[in-house]
Amino acid sequence: MKKYLIFFIFCLVSFTIFANGTIQKVRMNNNPAQLVFDISSQVKPKFNSSYDEYNRLLFLEIDKVKMNTKFNPSSFIGKSIEKIDLIDYGTNVGFFIKLKKGAGHKVYSLTNPHRIVVDLRPTTSSKKEFTIAIDAGHGGKDPGAIGFKIYKEKDIALAVAKKLQTRLSKDFNVIMTRSDDRYLTLSERSRVANRAKADLFVSLHLNASNNASAQGAEIFYFSKKSSPYAEKIAAYENSFGEKYGEKTGSIAQIMGELAYNKNMEKSINIAKPLNTSLAKRLNMRDRGIYGANFAVLRGFNGPGILVELGFITNKVEVTKLSKESNQNVMADELANKIRSFFY
Ligand SMILES: [Zn+2]
Repeated sequence: MKKYLIFFIFCLVSFTIFANGTIQKVRMNNNPAQLVFDISSQVKPKFNSSYDEYNRLLFLEIDKVKMNTKFNPSSFIGKSIEKIDLIDYGTNVGFFIKLKKGAGHKVYSLTNPHRIVVDLRPTTSSKKEFTIAIDAGHGGKDPGAIGFKIYKEKDIALAVAKKLQTRLSKDFNVIMTRSDDRYLTLSERSRVANRAKADLFVSLHLNASNNASAQGAEIFYFSKKSSPYAEKIAAYENSFGEKYGEKTGSIAQIMGELAYNKNMEKSINIAKPLNTSLAKRLNMRDRGIYGANFAVLRGFNGPGILVELGFITNKVEVTKLSKESNQNVMADELANKIRSFFY
């Protein structure tokens, strides 16, 4: 009798030491495709997983558990799983899961009740939900505004645009209206963005003034109504189109009234915090945001902003804007605020 009692105590102790719980059920969800391990345990079950890309083999080991359910490997074979094998290590339970092509392999645990989930959905499909169109103003035969005979608006705009592209590409599909020094009409720019069904159009420019001390960053959004000041800036930017033979007045507003109001609201929500942080980070004047009838924004069927990064005609400011370290800061701020708007 004593012998049995010792054996019983031994079993109890070893169970407490080696096992924290039991796998009660292994099941397959189809929508979304997930392999789920239901675990009964006092503590959160620990697991290790590794993935062999070449063989598409996922190894999942759940620590200190025992199987308490019948396991039928063939019942899991389907759209995502090619083969599954179980290995009971006595203290741990391991699963070799051979995946079908395209299946994802994100493993995580959930509590209440305890579960370990293998998410088999393709990993790329949920990413890059949104498309951003980046438009570096001017280009080619159109230099845009020129400061001190050496600084060209088209060059600084393109430099910042490329940096912004790099930063946004991690989370967004990015479309550039131009990636080099080429001429594009204003209507071509919005057409590129419309074709890509972009969720946001960002046009980058530099301001110019006869007053050499004029300074600061400002952002415009499309509005049919505008203040005399905003109208002046819009007329100035539109004049570049006219100068190179484009009838900017003929660029039609393709969005309906409802979309127009919605897009304007979205544009304002992006522009406001962005302009404040841009100015702050570069120690520049925050000139505010304005609605105006910009031809390049009018033709785009979605929210759009036109950023005047600063004044090319202000010596201190243009020196600042042409420095690569500051262009990195501008691109960072633009990317951060765009990201926080969408995610
Ligand atoms: Zn411009």
